Formats: sequence, C-alpha cells, structure tokens
Amino acid sequence: MIRNHYHTVIIGAGPAGLACALTLLENGVDDVLVAEKYAFPRDKCCAGYITGKTERAYKRFGLDPAGCGYSRIKDFKLFYNLNCRQTIDNQFLFSSREINRVALDDAFFRLAKARGIQIAENLPITGHDPEKNTVILGNTHAVAYDDLVFADGTMGFGSKYQDTKLRNLAMQFIFPSDQPDSIEIHFGVTKRGYCWVSTTGGVTNVGMTDEYRTGEKYRQLFEAFLRDLGLEPNASDLYAAFTPIGVRKPVIGHNLYFVGDAMGACDPFTLSGVSNALASGKKAALSIARSDPRIIKRYAHALSVKFFFMRSLMKVFYVPWVRAFVFGVGCRFLGGVVTFFFNRFLNKK
Ligand SMILES: Cc1cc2nc3c(=O)[nH]c(=O)nc-3n(C[C@H](O)[C@H](O)[C@H](O)COP(=O)(O)OP(=O)(O)OC[C@H]3O[C@@H](n4cnc5c(N)ncnc54)[C@H](O)[C@@H]3O)c2cc1C
Repeated sequence: MIRNHYHTVIIGAGPAGLACALTLLENGVDDVLVAEKYAFPRDKCCAGYITGKTERAYKRFGLDPAGCGYSRIKDFKLFYNLNCRQTIDNQFLFSSREINRVALDDAFFRLAKARGIQIAENLPITGHDPEKNTVILGNTHAVAYDDLVFADGTMGFGSKYQDTKLRNLAMQFIFPSDQPDSIEIHFGVTKRGYCWVSTTGGVTNVGMTDEYRTGEKYRQLFEAFLRDLGLEPNASDLYAAFTPIGVRKPVIGHNLYFVGDAMGACDPFTLSGVSNALASGKKAALSIARSDPRIIKRYAHALSVKFFFMRSLMKVFYVPWVRAFVFGVGCRFLGGVVTFFFNRFLNKK
C-alpha cells in the first residue's frame, strides 16, 4: 500500500536507487519508497560486465555476484581493424553466464526487499511538482516527500532537470553460440568508441558504443561489423540504449538528488557504470541521512575530475595515428605494459 507521504522517495530500482535505499536504512532512515517502472526481474540493456571494484562494492552490501553466475573471464583479447593484437590474462573483469545484468539486478532487488525496503513495481513517475514536493506515481498516486532521488537512468524523468546534450550510444546483439569463453574488444570500428564480442557459457554478446552524433548511421555500422564477424542478425534482435557523458548536477535546490546514470556517473570511455551507480547512491543517502549535501557534491566533483581525465585520454587515444601506434608498435613490443595497464588501471573502475 502506497502512503501519501515518505521521508525519501527514490525513482528507479537499479543499482543506484537500491544502493541509496539500503544506505538510508543503514543510517536510520527507513521511511523510504522506491518507485520502479517495471516488474522484477526486469530486462536491462547492459553488457553486464563487472570489475573487481564493483564485485567488492556489491559484497559490502551483502550480495556476492558469484551467486548470480558471475565468474572471471580468462582471455581478454584486444583487436584493431579486426586483427587480434594482444591477448591479456584478464585479472579484473567478471561476466555472468547470461551476459546481461538481469539476474544480478534481480538479486539486489530481492536483497533490498528482504531487508524491508518498500519497492513498488510497475509504478513509473508520471508527474512532479517541485514547489509542492510531490510526485505523481503511475498516474494515480500523489506522494509527498522530504527528499526526492532520481535514480532513473540516462534518459529518465529526472533528465529534464539536467543538461543532457552529450551521450554515448550503445547497441547489443545477444545469441546462443558454441564459441569458447572469451572477450574481445575491437577498436577501429567506431570513431570514438569500441565494439565487444564476448562469450560465456554458450551465450555470445556483441556490442558497439560510440559518442552519439545526430545523422550518423550507427545501425548500419553495427550491422556491417556483425557481418564482418559472419553474423546475420534480425533487426528486431538489436538493443540500443544511451549512457551519459559528463557528470550532471548531483543536487538541485535543497532536496532533489540525482544518482547513477541520472547524475552522469558512468565512465565515458569504458562505459563502466555499475560501481559508480552503487557509490553515488551511497553518497546521496549519506547526504540525506546527515542533512549534508556536500557529501554527494564532493563525490560528484571528484568524479568529474576523473571523467575529465578519461575524456582527455579518449581525445588522444581516438586520434587514428595514436591508435595505429598503440596497436602496431605498443602491443608488439610493449605487450607487458599494455597488460599491466589493463589489469591494474581498469580494475579500479
Ligand atoms: C549497452 C550497454 C552496456 C553496458 N555495459 C556495462 C557493463 O558491462 N558494465 C558496467 O558497469 N556498466 C555498463 N553499462 C552502464 C550501466 O548499465 C549503467 O551505468 C548502470 O545501469 C547505471 O545504473 P542506474 O541504477 O543508474 O540505472 P539503471 O540500471 O538504468 O536503473 C534505472 C532504473 O530506473 C527505472 N526507471 C526508468 N524510468 C523510470 C520512471 N519513469 N519511473 C520509475 N522508474 C524508472 C528503470 O526501469 C531502471 O530499473 C552499459 C550500458 C549500456 C547501455
């Protein structure tokens, strides 16, 4: 039963929204409603890889991803212009057997419910009056709040309060296959992004990401890449979604918070967003519980410095001759350095 007032209303039951709700609970705020658009287990357009850092963050909330079929992928292969340039003994990246996040998100949802958090499924936000501190849920329930948290993703309802011009497009094609377990990262297909081909336990996921620019023919580019791999997908089997580029405002006014993709907490280079979703949800909850918005503001500032560095790295890396040098000379003569960089640097993402 939905009451007409809560201390905190959270929009979206993804990793950011649930991390926020669980941290609020740990800090004594239990008058919380999480309103989610879909019913769980819900579909999620995501490659579902998690790093060692994300795994540790879930464990701190009491969830072991291994219980959702996650395991470390052995071989991590770097491709440039469809040629394999480097095989890395992967130490940092984990994948589920389904190669998506459906089971992991569902397990986190069940954990939050088991701890007593009220999550209303099939209840999207449809209206908001910031003057009256009221949201309309599912067109029927008017609910007042003291604090409101938008955890509804890159293009959710909360995005209308943000400047959302820059974003990455990510496309996926998932199918059963008899390939051995591996992960390939392909550079040279898109201008400012990469493609992936990964197989775990008889399921292959092929994806493509690029900085989104209107007028570019991403679908044709993706279909051409799939054909290069010898695949003929049905157009209806292709999924696409946006990820944010750039950290947005984490707080507007005194009581509107933004977490996860809604605050732009997704790495613009790697697309790794789950660990930042968990961390930003936690920081917003601490801000609310301690009435101190500086906690989430400091986190957002640190993240924007980090992402500025990643964007600068991207600008250099995606210059064609730099990539040709990295994959032609770097991988051939400095393979150990490339391996070290991937396993040490990306493990922290
Ligand atoms: C193709 C693709 C591949 C990716 N691969 C990876 C990866 O391998 N590893 C990684 O770490 N990150 C990856 N990401 C990024 C990652 O998916 C996001 O950063 C992460 O999901 C952000 O979590 P979140 O909780 O902020 O948002 P979400 O997980 O998107 O959750 C938002 C929730 O809000 C709900 N919602 C939306 N609108 C409303 C509404 N109006 N009312 C109520 N609820 C609403 C949604 O149903 C959803 O449950 C990928 C993204 C894409 C698009």
